[in-house]
This record gives sequence, structure tokens and C-alpha cells, in this order.
Amino acid sequence: MYAQVVVDVPSKQTNRPFDYVVPEELRTWIGVGSRVGVPFGPRTLQGFVVALSERTDMASGKLKKIEQVLDLVPPLNPELVQLARWMSRTYICHEITALQAMIPGALKAKYEKRIELADDAELKARKRADAQDGGQALLFAASPEEEAISAFVRQKGQVTTEAMLARFPEAGPLLKRMLEQGTFVEVQTVRDRMNAKTALFVAPAASPEELTAHSMKLPANAKRQKELLLWFAENLEPLPLAELTDKLDVGAGTVKALADKGLLSVTERELFRDPYAGREFRRTTPLALTPEQRQALEPVADTLERREHGVFLLHGVTGSGKTEVYLQAIQQCLDQGREAIVLVPEISLTPQMVERFKGRFGSAVAVMHSRLSQGERYDEWRKIVLKRVSVVIGARSAVFAPFDRIGLIIIDEEHESSYKQEESPKYHARDVAVERAAYHGAAVVLGSATPSLESYAKASGRLGSGAAGRYRLLTMAERVEGRPLPAVNVVDLREELKAGNRSMFSRGLYEALGQRLERQEQSVLLLNRRGYSTFVMCRSCGFVVQCPHCDISLTYHQVSRTMRCHYCGFSQPEPATCPSCESEHIRYFGTGTQRVEEELAKLFPGIRVIRMDVDTTSEKGAHERLLNRFRDRQADVLLGTQMVAKGLDFPDVTLVGVIAADTVLHLPDFRAAEKTFQLLTQVAGRAGRHRLPGEVFIQTYTPDHYSIVTASAHDFGAFLEQELDIRRQRGYPPYYELVLVTLSHEQVPLLVRAGEAFASRLKQCWEHERRGRGPGYPADSLGHLNDARGDGAYFEVYGPVASPIPRIKDRYRFQCMIKYRGNVDVAGMLAETAAAFDDTVRNDKLTISMDVNPQVLM
Ligand code: ADP
Ligand code: ZN
Ligand code: ZN
Repeated sequence: MYAQVVVDVPSKQTNRPFDYVVPEELRTWIGVGSRVGVPFGPRTLQGFVVALSERTDMASGKLKKIEQVLDLVPPLNPELVQLARWMSRTYICHEITALQAMIPGALKAKYEKRIELADDAELKARKRADAQDGGQALLFAASPEEEAISAFVRQKGQVTTEAMLARFPEAGPLLKRMLEQGTFVEVQTVRDRMNAKTALFVAPAASPEELTAHSMKLPANAKRQKELLLWFAENLEPLPLAELTDKLDVGAGTVKALADKGLLSVTERELFRDPYAGREFRRTTPLALTPEQRQALEPVADTLERREHGVFLLHGVTGSGKTEVYLQAIQQCLDQGREAIVLVPEISLTPQMVERFKGRFGSAVAVMHSRLSQGERYDEWRKIVLKRVSVVIGARSAVFAPFDRIGLIIIDEEHESSYKQEESPKYHARDVAVERAAYHGAAVVLGSATPSLESYAKASGRLGSGAAGRYRLLTMAERVEGRPLPAVNVVDLREELKAGNRSMFSRGLYEALGQRLERQEQSVLLLNRRGYSTFVMCRSCGFVVQCPHCDISLTYHQVSRTMRCHYCGFSQPEPATCPSCESEHIRYFGTGTQRVEEELAKLFPGIRVIRMDVDTTSEKGAHERLLNRFRDRQADVLLGTQMVAKGLDFPDVTLVGVIAADTVLHLPDFRAAEKTFQLLTQVAGRAGRHRLPGEVFIQTYTPDHYSIVTASAHDFGAFLEQELDIRRQRGYPPYYELVLVTLSHEQVPLLVRAGEAFASRLKQCWEHERRGRGPGYPADSLGHLNDARGDGAYFEVYGPVASPIPRIKDRYRFQCMIKYRGNVDVAGMLAETAAAFDDTVRNDKLTISMDVNPQVLM
């Protein structure tokens, strides 16, 4: 039997499977998706088995053998192996990088050198040769120390040098000599970073009657043995030894005595570290659905029933009860004997969220998020591999849960940018979910109050009639039980300044906060620090300096005191006065949460504030503790960054204030308006979710901006129309697709040359392709943006320009933006182009990274 193995070296030369022989004794354990240790050059490497076969194209005599199989149950399955190949093609990354992304950190390869006894025959042959050679045989008359060390190694099989020296602290020089003499050999092995935790369990090994009968026969002084037998006559469940000796006050010796008689059994079993151990989850039963919920669930249920593949976009306003729809769909999926994956953004994976799922499905749920310890993550993941659970709820990477009977994948808050991984493999969990579901004949439900434009366009058929890739739209427009959406007040901060109010709180918000304190209701204040100080805005008129070529705000670069465009490279000096109204109140924008907290304390003495930002939530569990305190009414105000905007469901929150809505709006990103709309809608959605009605204040310098106007009117439809128009005109997603290529190098001149060469080569590639397609493809593709001639395919390379962050870790960065549409094999062209730079990459340490459908353009 032969195995094809992808090894743990992310390079172009090794980005293919290598053939190995599967030794007879490993056949039982090996499968597609197994992790193995294989000889590769002079080393032993970790690898993944991607195929098994009875034949090989290689001369089989030359093939090396697989040395180790690392797991009894393969951690991946054939579907995931196939998915890795798809990822490597789609996201232009190495297959091993995709495979590694699918397993928890604890299983990433760790290499270790160990010592073992040399093969006996080999050793004897050597001794003989040496002896003939000149009477060196004396050396081999082993000393007692040598005997002791050899015996130790023989007993252990393999030991690390550390373990050896721990046992024989003085043996360093001797060990070295024995290695040189060939008594020992050094082997490299692959090891896990983490081991399953085990414990000894005691169980009865005879029937209750036998146990009782035997206890009668025991002599009177064997009181403890008697007790133990009688206890197990009544308790048939295995119990950890430690617990047992504690409980019954017996020694391990007593247990052993009975085990030796065959009355009890002692076995080693795996323990699972349970991050939620000792927590009670109140059992919940399905709610009676509202008519809207029923309407949304029905088509999903149908698709599940027929075991078909289908993608649904559930657009439900905040508080419309999306979670209950998810829960009931999952129930159906489980009833079919299939498995479900639920993805939620890391930040909203709060105890509240976990409670909802554990409360309904109990111990069938595994939870995966980055706040678990590595051991806990590993154990939750093993529950999936060992089929102990059938639901996993987790952040982005849980999309790789190694289930093999997936019926349903849910992505809550599908618009969240955290579903995109920003380092290689730069995948989007939404696309991966759809790919997996297609394989399994499973349903995907994407839920959001503010769907991404990409998803909405697919669901509404705006991208043309092509049925492939179509999502089905499900709408829930009302909050449950007819609760109203909160009233939103947009406050013009320019007017506040004119009226002499220089505080960061408008008069309206100030008054509303005071009222909440009086009524003992709670408030949420949002201060988005993202984009802090990066754009320049006039405080008198709201003017923001923009690029004359790109309609995108310029970014302030503090070092050079210039303003630059991240898209085209345009740059100008920082203005001293406002180009629009000549006011001198033009400055970098932004206030920190700490300053807001101070001002609150000044304005409302005695106010209790919980501040939630990167500073206060860095500790493990801090995020949850803060939220629990707020829920338990230990504070009047929850103040924070985006973290406070999402997923929270607190009954007494009746006021939401947004300190400055503009901070996101002017980010140099074509998604700035979309992100603003999403954030405002989400945070507003925290108010008045229960009995008490809610109120929202949005403070802004640009009250007329459509994203703010539409968010305050809870009008997703109106926002969508305007935004889609703009995207179409400017040539952005969802009408066009983007790939961001970033090149980096220590020296600017080489980087500039490489960047230029890369762009022109890529253009040639397209030129070639375009000619091959015949006439109807205009060479001047710019004029073609709004115009679908031919099959509407379009391809353009922008740049290279310096990246928005032009140097990281002493490496300079240049980027090209690729914009395309239609039937263009961009991944293929990029791979071909990049291949031409292999030498520069290898010899001159140029790096080229590609981001397909980038979410962050900086
Ligand atoms: P969303 O995720 O859509 O913002 P949630 O799922 O958090 O909304 O639901 C909002 C509130 O409505 C929750 O407190 C939830 O328990 C409650 N709820 C949901 N469905 C129903 C229902 N059918 N009947 C009564 N209450 C419901
Ligand atoms: Zn520009
Ligand atoms: Zn101005």
C-alpha cells in the first residue's frame, strides 16, 4: 500500500504530495486525513495523508517508508483533504497551509530528538569490525554505569536527552561517548504539543451478586475491601480512582488487591477538560414560533428534509428572534442523525450565546473559541473527532470541524469581517462553509440584521440571473412580540459647536443619560476607535480631505506629515486650515474611551461605568466578567468599542449613544459606508429589546450622509439601493471582485522593480488571454466599467503603489490591486505570474502575498 503525503514545509517545491510506502503494521491505523511522520531529506517531518492507493508511479524500490502514524483516529477526513486542495487553488496558498489551518494548535508538529538503543545486529557487527581493527574491543566491556543507562533506554524504548540526564545527572560525557560508539542512535520524531489527559478508572468486574458473595467470605479485618465490594455491588459506573479513594477513604492498595482477584477492573481512560464544567445550563424548550419565524424556518426545513444543498440569507432585524430559528433548524438536523456547525463572531461568543445552545442541546455541544486554553480547545476538538458531540459552536476556524455527516451550517452575523482570516490561508469562513455544505448536501443559513452587500446581492438576484451561487432570501422585518425598534435621534455636532458646546456629549445625549440614571435604567455608549487619528476632518464644517482621483479619504501619515491615498498613491501636505471653510479647527479625529470615561465622571458624579476596550479585556475571561457585572446591574453605563455593539441582549438597556459615528465613515476603504451602517444598526439594536422601549443618539459631523440617514430610519433597503449604485459606478464588489497583491522586501529599489515587473507581467497575461477570446474585448477596459460587452469579463491591475502601512518590521511594502469580473481565471494568472518570480523570492527574499476578496485594504 502507498500513501501520498503533503509535508509540513510551506514552499513551492514541496507544494505537492510525495509517495511513501505504508508498512504492514501501520495499515490498520492509516487513512486519508491521517497525520504521519515521514523521512524527508535528512529530517523527519509531519505530513498529512491525502490519498492511499495500491500502486505508485514511482519506482517503488526507491520509496521511503512512513515512520509514524500520529493518531489512532485520523484528525481530518477525505472531504477536508479535498477542501484543502480547493482552498489552495482558490486562495492561492500552499496545501499544507490550508491543512494546518484545519487542526487545533495543539496538533501542529513539534519535532523532538530522542535516543534509542542501536540495532543489536548492527552493533555486534561494528564491535567485531572494531575488534579486528586494532583491539579496541576493551572499550566495549560495558561499565556498570553504561549497563544502567542501556537498561534504562531499553526499558523506555526511546528517551529524550533531558529525561536521561534527569535520571543520570552526571552521565553527559558518557552519553556522548556511547552515541559516538554507536551504542545509541539519535532519532527525530514528531510529537504532539498536547496529550490527551488520562486517569485511572475503577469499575466492577463481576456481577453484583458475586461481589456481595465475595465480601461475605472476606476475613473480618478486611473491612475496607468489604466496603469497596459492597459499594460496587450497587454502583456499576466506572469512577476515577482518585475520586474513589477520596470518597470511601480507601487506599489504592485496597483497590489493587481486589483488582488482582479479578473483582474490580482498573483501566486508563481519557479525560476531557471541560471549559464549562460545573456550570448549570438551564434546559430550554423550543418556543412557539412567530409567523415570521415560521415562514423563515419552513424553506430551510424543506431543504434539510430533502437533504439538498441550499444557501439561505436570513435577513432579520435586531430582536426578530433569529436564534430561535437557528435552534429549531438544528434540532431537525440532529433528528435526522446529522451534524451542525454554528459560527458566531469571536466577540459575541459570550456566555449568553453559549447558554442558548447548551441549554437546548446540552452535552451534544462543543464550544471552540480563542479564549479557551490550548488544552481545552484540543479536548473540545477531540470530542468532535471521536463523535461525542453533534453540534459545534465556535468562531471562524470552527468551520473546519471534522464532522462527516454535516446537515446544517449556520453563520450568525454573516457580515462580520472577522470571518475572513487575515493571515495565510486568507480564507473566508462563509465561502468555506458553502463549499463544505455543497459536498455534504447540507443547508447553510447566513443570518444578519445587516447582511453584507455581497451576500445580499447574491440573494436578491442583482448580479444577473445566473442560478449558480444564488442564495435564497428569508426576511424577518419585525421584532418578536411586536416590540418597536428604538427611536433614533441624529445629532449634528457642528451645531453643538456653534451653540458653544465643546463637550463630547451633545445636549440631547447628556439629558438622556441623566434621565436613565434617574429611572435606574442602563445605557450603552459606543466609541469606535478604529480609524483613530487617521483621517483629517474640519470640526467647523465636517469637511474631510479626500483623494482627487479616488473619492476616498486621505490617510494622515504622522512621520511625514502628509496626506496619502491608499489606492492610487496620491499625496499632499497636511492642511493648516480647512480647504472648504478656512476654519482652523481642522485636526486629526478621535477620542479615546478613557477620556470619555473621565468626562462621564465629571458630568455625572457617582456614575458607575464599565469600560470595555482592548485595555480592559486583555485578560482571560475579562470580557465575560465585565458583561456579567453589567447584566447584574452593577453599572449604569457600558462604554466601549465595537465590542459593545454586538449580540448583547440585556432587558434594562434603554439608551444607546454613539459618540462619533464618523470614525468609521472616513476610513480609506470602499466598505466604509457599509461598515458604518452595520455598526450603527447593530448598536442601536441593543436598545429596548424587551419590555422597556429604547432610544438612540447618533452624534455625527455628517448627519446627511446616507449611511447615517438610512441607519437612523432602520431602512436597510434604502441604504442598499444607494450603496449598490455607488459600487457599480466605482467598480467595487459585489459587481467586481478584488485581489490584493502585496510585495515586500528590505530594499526599496528592488521592490519597485519587482512591483513594476509583477504588474506588467500580469497585464501581459491578461492581454494574451483577451486576444485569445477574440474581438468584442475592448483593449481600453476602463471605459468598459459600466458596460457589459462580450461576456462582460473585465480585468485591470492598479498599482503598484506603496502599501498604506509602507514598512513593517523593516520590510517595505508595495501593493497591486486587481479588479475583475466575469469568467476570468485570476487565480491561475496570478499563480503563473508569481511563478516567474520564484528566483527573486528564493534568492533575494522577496515575498509576495495574495489576498483574494480582501476585507482589509490597509
Ligand atoms: P436576534 O438575534 O434576531 O437579534 P434574538 O434571537 O436574540 O434576536 O431574540 C430576541 C429576543 O426575543 C430574545 O430574548 C428571545 O428569547 C426572544 N424570542 C425569540 N423568539 C421568540 C418567540 N417565538 N417567542 C417569544 N420570544 C422570543
Ligand atoms: Zn487615490
Ligand atoms: Zn471646514
